[in-house]
Amino acid sequence: MDLTAPQHRRRDSPELAPAEVFDGPIWEGADLLPRPRWILISRILRVAWLAAALLFLPADLLAETNASNVVCRNGLAVERREELAGKLRKITGWSDLKFDLTGALRLGTNPVNGSKKARELLSRVVTGGTAVVLEDASKRADVAFCQVLPGKWKANVPDSHPAFVVRIDFADFENVMGDAPALQAFDAGWGLLHELDHVVNNSLDATCLGEPGECEAHINEMRHECGLPQRAQYFYTYSPLTVDSAFITRLVQLSFEQEEAPSRKKKRYLLVWDANLVGGITEGKKIAVLR
Ligand SMILES: [Zn+2]
Repeated sequence: MDLTAPQHRRRDSPELAPAEVFDGPIWEGADLLPRPRWILISRILRVAWLAAALLFLPADLLAETNASNVVCRNGLAVERREELAGKLRKITGWSDLKFDLTGALRLGTNPVNGSKKARELLSRVVTGGTAVVLEDASKRADVAFCQVLPGKWKANVPDSHPAFVVRIDFADFENVMGDAPALQAFDAGWGLLHELDHVVNNSLDATCLGEPGECEAHINEMRHECGLPQRAQYFYTYSPLTVDSAFITRLVQLSFEQEEAPSRKKKRYLLVWDANLVGGITEGKKIAVLR
């Protein structure tokens, strides 16, 4: 398809077929498949597909974390941990939320403002029955923003929890440009919460254009509590500023919107990034894949 054709240079193009947009930008293992097949996949098949991508984790990873089920892998640098904690502090209103010296996520106390629903989600993960391991996937071509995959302990661990690995590509978020309110509503903290919502609530992403999907609907409630615009769609599309694939840059866009009082009119905010830098493009298919 020729993306330089005039009909595809408009900002809103409701006629765009699903095969012509990219999946994402928060991706999981189930999104590995081309979209026409993916939309037919059931939850059961989805789990089976995820099982094929099991990641092996050292058995002692949670040994010293003392009842926090969210822990950083060694490769997640202290600076990145602090960056992520800072974003979570802002979202939750917990000024004392942190990763401790063992890399375990410690929730805060006495929140000021922030999202109550985000605090509830983090609390359920940290104190729940599933282990979540955070991994730095910065600049990995096969990870666009974030993804969650099932993990498996390397050794037999008595009473071990089911485990998931959340990969975070911090560099991808640094490549996003756009309106300031939308940038605040789309960062590594929000990306992590999206993946955790999949883990805890078994929520699904959108299958149709123009809707945020079950998972992002949950995250949008948190954005609303923070006074931030909400993600209007799950899929992102070619930006009208994009150029033909013969050029190096390939811009895509994602829209957010926020109702303005008292008119109740919705104000739109846009994010734009170069999909060639962030990843997720398969040449010729114009769909998102993970690997
Ligand atoms: Zn998702």
